[in-house]
Amino acid sequence: MAQIIDGKALAAQVLARAAADVADIVAAGGDAPGLAVILVGNDPASEVYVGRKIAQCRKAGIRSIEHRLPADTAQDVVLSLIEELNADPQVHGILVQLPLPRHIDASLVLDRIDPGKDVDGFHPVNVGRLSTGTGGLVPCTPLGVMLLLDSVIDDYRGLNVVVIGKSNIVGKPVSMLLLEREATVTVTHIETKDLPDVARKADIIVAAAGAPHLVRGYWVKPGAVVIDVGITRVVDHDGNTKIVGDCATHELDHAKAVTPVPGGVGPMTIACLLSNTVLAAKRATVA
Ligand code: NAD
Repeated sequence: MAQIIDGKALAAQVLARAAADVADIVAAGGDAPGLAVILVGNDPASEVYVGRKIAQCRKAGIRSIEHRLPADTAQDVVLSLIEELNADPQVHGILVQLPLPRHIDASLVLDRIDPGKDVDGFHPVNVGRLSTGTGGLVPCTPLGVMLLLDSVIDDYRGLNVVVIGKSNIVGKPVSMLLLEREATVTVTHIETKDLPDVARKADIIVAAAGAPHLVRGYWVKPGAVVIDVGITRVVDHDGNTKIVGDCATHELDHAKAVTPVPGGVGPMTIACLLSNTVLAAKRATVA
């Protein structure tokens, strides 16, 4: 049987470390780290994500500052808010919940965030730092993927990794992190030819396609580690909504280890948001 990597347990450790760091900062006379969260509109999934992030911040002692703006908020208003938050020394992290309404240019908004407060790691400066291995803030989901992998892999040198999906928020950054560890990384996507054959050569598969049960048992070589980033909501025969990953996990008994969906990458993403906020606060104090 493949080992099931327990993302909830690992996330609890990351959250506990963040809470301990916050307590240390406060005990040393510093301000508790502050995370500003901007939510424009009322997309139900975004509401849920923001609610979870704020709840976890509170538990860890991080001050969360919510900015909920109506869906028709002008782009300039969002940009001005970001400028205010950039200048506020009590705010150490700024998170803009995506997607933004169509009339707002998300890349313009994300580019306006001070890179030192960009706890999502989406600012071009942080993207550049990641690709040059020069220590910016790393996007939360890829950071969580690496922690999950670190729990079962000691040495990445020379391992073949196949990343499925080339998005800016998961596929590309996770590939950069794995390259930094000296893995041999193949980034694949919807146009990749013979993907099952490519995947079968992998020691590690990171599936981030958003395609339910794309990765079948015969795609995975015995002993491979499989990280399932995918989250797709599907309605079953009884009309219940459930979350399905990118991997047919029930066909992966021959793998070394796999992450479940839910309970794998998902909890790590929020935990890493908190650790990024603490890191940003520590760096702001040193600066
Ligand atoms: P995206 O839509 O931006 O990118 C998907 C990528 O997968 C693209 O590069 C596309 O070419 C590729 N792809 C799609 N279908 C494919 C197929 N059949 N074969 C090969 N490649 C295929 O998606 P994203 O934002 O990177 O998210 C990917 C998945 O990860 C989604 O299910 C998303 O919900 C999930 N996600 C989860 C977390 C988390 O915290 N667990 C965080 C971010 C994203």
